[in-house]
Amino acid sequence: MSRLRVHVLALGGTIATRPDAGGVMQMGAGADDLVAAVPLLKELADIEAETVSRVGSHSLSFDDIHAVAGKIAATAADAVIVTQGTDTLEETGFLLDLLVKRDIPVIVTAAMRNPALTSADGPGNLLAAVRVAGDPWIRRHTRSLGVMAVMLDEVHAVADVIKAHPTRIDAFASPQTGPIAALVEDRVVPLGLPVRDAIEVARQALDKVSGEARPVALLWMGLDEPGGLIEAILAAPDRLGYRGVVVAAMGGGHVPERLAPLAGRLAAALPTVVAARAGGGPLLRHTYGGASSEIALLEAGLIWGGRLHPLKARVLLETCLRAGLDRAAIARVFAAWG
Ligand code: ASP
Repeated sequence: MSRLRVHVLALGGTIATRPDAGGVMQMGAGADDLVAAVPLLKELADIEAETVSRVGSHSLSFDDIHAVAGKIAATAADAVIVTQGTDTLEETGFLLDLLVKRDIPVIVTAAMRNPALTSADGPGNLLAAVRVAGDPWIRRHTRSLGVMAVMLDEVHAVADVIKAHPTRIDAFASPQTGPIAALVEDRVVPLGLPVRDAIEVARQALDKVSGEARPVALLWMGLDEPGGLIEAILAAPDRLGYRGVVVAAMGGGHVPERLAPLAGRLAAALPTVVAARAGGGPLLRHTYGGASSEIALLEAGLIWGGRLHPLKARVLLETCLRAGLDRAAIARVFAAWG
């Protein structure tokens, strides 16, 4: 390949903050500023820097990420790096993985420590992302790697990565799989290819994703949950505006027993996906009996989310609903996750 061309799309986030007069960090920097802060980048690649937005990632929308996917589809560059906030990176990156069908490296990166702090990690993460984008192993395996998150010299598959700590610099982890590569000195050391069969099933089913948002509620099950939110959704003629629900269930796919009838009614009213509140991980299918066990919930029509983290299950369900998939097609997409 001739000289690497990288398209940087900046959305905002801590990596793009600046201190105001009172020392409070505010959104401000654009893509040009982020690139200018790392002079070495010029030696590694030709960079096209585009500022898409200057918002915290807690304020990004599904539509925003669909627009970013459109930019990636249209780019003439050899790789795309999306910079954004860390708060929703595990969701936005996963959505890009579902939407982007280009065989070029697509990398999401961010910063945990803001630019006013000693040892801010934004510039190093951007530099690492560019090195990863140009690495021969990464480029050879682009299709098998999917969208990647590069944080603190680790490369993660976005389908597996989560933000596991609110403030630490090493906040990102892939608890079920570990990182797919590490950056050591200036080279990428491969550790393994991600398992992407389920993503491919989803991508095929999601051929025509329309533009209309389909809100999905995320209901997290805790000890002695009384089910008031489920009742409120069922009682509202418009289902409170929700078009689907993800239940972050206990253990291998359980809810408190008194919720069993409500869970069944919910599944009859809206596509309802179960994912593990433990942070993802394959669910059980036929181990426990009882009114609200995995066997009973499956019989009641709840859709099994497989190994997906509840946040990623919510992203996938929203995307399936946007694509107009019916319940059976949605169940097939989720079944591929094990
Ligand atoms: N609130 C910030 C954001 O997600 C946090 C960060 O970037 O680390 O935009």
